[in-house]
Amino acid sequence: MGNEIPGAVAQDRNRLAVKAATVVLLFVAVGMALHLKEGKGQAGSDSAASAEVSNSAALPPSGHEASAPSAAAATVLPRLVDLGAGKCIPCKMMAPILAQLKEDFAGRFEVQFIDVWENPDAGEDYGIQIIPTQIFYDTAGKEQFRHEGFFSREDILAQWMKLGVELGDGEPLEFSRLEPAAPDTRAKDSICYMCDGDIDPKTRAILKTEKGDVAFCSPHCYFIAYSSMVDNKPAVESVAVTDWSAGTPVAAASASFVYGVGVDNRPTIKAFGDAAVATAEQQTAGGNVLEWAALQSKELATSCGFCDRAVYPEDACAVKVEGLNTRGCCTMCALGVAARMQKDIHVAAKDALTGDAIATETLEGHVALLDPPSAVAWAGTTKDAEGKLVSTGCFKQAFFVNEANLRTWVDAHPTATGRMITIEQALAEKMKLTPQQISKACKIGECAPK
Ligand SMILES: [Zn+2]
Ligand SMILES: [Zn+2]
Repeated sequence: MGNEIPGAVAQDRNRLAVKAATVVLLFVAVGMALHLKEGKGQAGSDSAASAEVSNSAALPPSGHEASAPSAAAATVLPRLVDLGAGKCIPCKMMAPILAQLKEDFAGRFEVQFIDVWENPDAGEDYGIQIIPTQIFYDTAGKEQFRHEGFFSREDILAQWMKLGVELGDGEPLEFSRLEPAAPDTRAKDSICYMCDGDIDPKTRAILKTEKGDVAFCSPHCYFIAYSSMVDNKPAVESVAVTDWSAGTPVAAASASFVYGVGVDNRPTIKAFGDAAVATAEQQTAGGNVLEWAALQSKELATSCGFCDRAVYPEDACAVKVEGLNTRGCCTMCALGVAARMQKDIHVAAKDALTGDAIATETLEGHVALLDPPSAVAWAGTTKDAEGKLVSTGCFKQAFFVNEANLRTWVDAHPTATGRMITIEQALAEKMKLTPQQISKACKIGECAPK
């Protein structure tokens, strides 16, 4: 079997994920159907969590495009309908979020909770498969979007913004940029597939695939991509590197590599087609001469404690878990260690603009200590083909000691897109992930690198 480009691998994985999710949905649907039949006793006393949220079972829109005069008259505001139940765990997690949204965005959009155990017909009327399901309606009562499962405050607000709803003063995303300030005008083959950085013609690495060549800025970025591929890992025969002295492509399998140390103590990799030239370089510049297999084991020796991707310790964000050291390949991954290990962690991050220290300690999935308290996170985000907000990957996430530094950094990176969020929000986005989602985190395609 030949190699596919990583994106194609990811698509296969996504299909698998969709299949797996479908199986889960079916189970949930069966469970819900049972509950619906068992009837009203199920909801009962435990619906207190959702008591603050409107609990009225308004008439569902017919065919999800309500145009009945009564509905139109009542819905001058856009409306969010959450269908759930008092006892379902993600529904319980939604309840305080919905209550707060209702308060913060009164006059901007309506929030309505429907308990499908108390109102068994509602599930069918709204055509939902699982609970919770959130449905976004425009002012005409027309369904604009629906989401299944837990949906965070951030995601809900981002969805409203995407639908063009003015969120006004309650808008907590004080700063975001979802369209680049300037287009990326670089030639596609000069951009690293993995890190999006410029490719130095002296260190370019190429993965040959059935769908064309994938270019990396260096063998290091190739190995990061390699560590992100779960199966169908490419063979060395499909990798070409660049001869450092001649600037010409050479098969990775037959190349010799001088593995040295550059600025900031980061490893450097120089490839040579001729072993004698590699040895000569090593004698003047220092380092070790390695063949591909030894280079690979060195490159894969250190990995992210959240997503398992290869990372140089010098590039990583340090994490301590019960006195043991691990690391995140980015600041978001560092927080993700708390979710993956279900333990309290200490993260030592650096401001992406100034390098100033930012310390975070977590306690039971929340930020217990943040130093400095003004620190904020930039969540690198873009829209996928369907307009859904997705991460732009580990290379585009950053922490800053304050909002001013973040804005300065964003101004200096006109192609960067994303949102400013609190460190607590960044942690919450990781803590809500299921073990299954964590096991797939950062695998190629998920963060949609170029
Ligand atoms: Zn790169
Ligand atoms: Zn990672």
